[in-house]
Amino acid sequence: MSEGENLIQTAGTPLQAWQGSQRLAAVTPISLDELAPPGQRVVVVAPHPDDEVIACGGLLAALADRAQPLLLISVTDGEGSHPGSLEWPPERLRLVREEESRAALLALGLAPEALNWQRLHAPDSKVGTDEQGLAAALRALLRPGDVVFTTWQQDGHCDHEAVARACISASTDAGAQLREIPVWAWHWASPEDARIPWERARRFALTPVQVERKRAAILAHQSQLHSDPTTGAAPVLSEQALQRWLQPFEMVFV
Ligand SMILES: [Zn+2]
Repeated sequence: MSEGENLIQTAGTPLQAWQGSQRLAAVTPISLDELAPPGQRVVVVAPHPDDEVIACGGLLAALADRAQPLLLISVTDGEGSHPGSLEWPPERLRLVREEESRAALLALGLAPEALNWQRLHAPDSKVGTDEQGLAAALRALLRPGDVVFTTWQQDGHCDHEAVARACISASTDAGAQLREIPVWAWHWASPEDARIPWERARRFALTPVQVERKRAAILAHQSQLHSDPTTGAAPVLSEQALQRWLQPFEMVFV
């Protein structure tokens, strides 16, 4: 399924509900040094070309301010975000979404040209068809001691879950640490939801500047923010979804 497909049929859990969550309020804080120890390489594995900023744009903004080795892996080109669209055919999305990722990285304070950025060109919406191939490709890029961030294995999105499973396999083989981040769970889960692994959850607090950089980075993904008159589809990333992703913290499963 493409980003958001089957998930944005409803508005999802509103931000106000999350703000009243007792379980969320009780999540243990984690510092930048604990989350991404200095000197260790940070690897962000993004199923689609906006997941790196939605999942951990605030963390990337924090890392941009200190010299820490960083590898970004874009698994798909995000060409499946507008199925059947006359305005956004897959070949246009491939080009535009790469440019949007570049603009988003700049907004976070990262120089795309200086970044180690690998693109795997896996098929959008069909990552699971070659999960072993993806795990092998990731394994070849990982090193012992890496700290790998990706989407959560139960995020409710087929590509996010397939990428997470491949990352688990590759990280285990490589001797890397894996940290998973919920993206669409904020949409479908309820505030006290027992399906969320709260005991593994940690809260990384963002400064107002980091939240604003994350906001600018998400807004760089313009193709995902507008309705499509040729299909009648709503924006892939709704205003309500943006509110949930722009809370002053990022929740990470360790
Ligand atoms: Zn995604």
